[in-house]
Amino acid sequence: MSEPSVFTRILQGEIPAEIIAETENVFAIRDIAPQAPVHLLVIPKTAQYRNVVELAASDPVLLTELVGLANTLAAEYSDGDFRLVFNTGPGAGQTVFHVHAHVLSGGLEEGRLGG
Ligand code: AMP
Repeated sequence: MSEPSVFTRILQGEIPAEIIAETENVFAIRDIAPQAPVHLLVIPKTAQYRNVVELAASDPVLLTELVGLANTLAAEYSDGDFRLVFNTGPGAGQTVFHVHAHVLSGGLEEGRLGG
């Protein structure tokens, strides 16, 4: 067994973080190092999928639940428009191998692909 991910440890209360929203299978926190005025992470409660490709292949219903919560939070925390980013692989900047979506919103007009 590998070590629990930082997100599992947050979910279990071992690392302090405010869970700002949750559904049956997904939860959300604020990113600790925000890259946009609104920068949230939406995360499946299960750690069994390392990235969005694995999640989509194995449990598309869970991926849909994740996208739905991202949409709800973008409306709640911003104007409803948002970027949904899944870094996939270390070369793309993924550092936590427990699939999660970055919800980025606010002040994103410049640079359509971010960065
Ligand atoms: P990624 O680089 O796509 O794997 O995203 C991991 C994200 O998790 C980064 O944006 C980090 O800032 C964020 N992160 C790491 N530890 C924490 C934490 N304890 N609370 C909130 N966000 C975190």
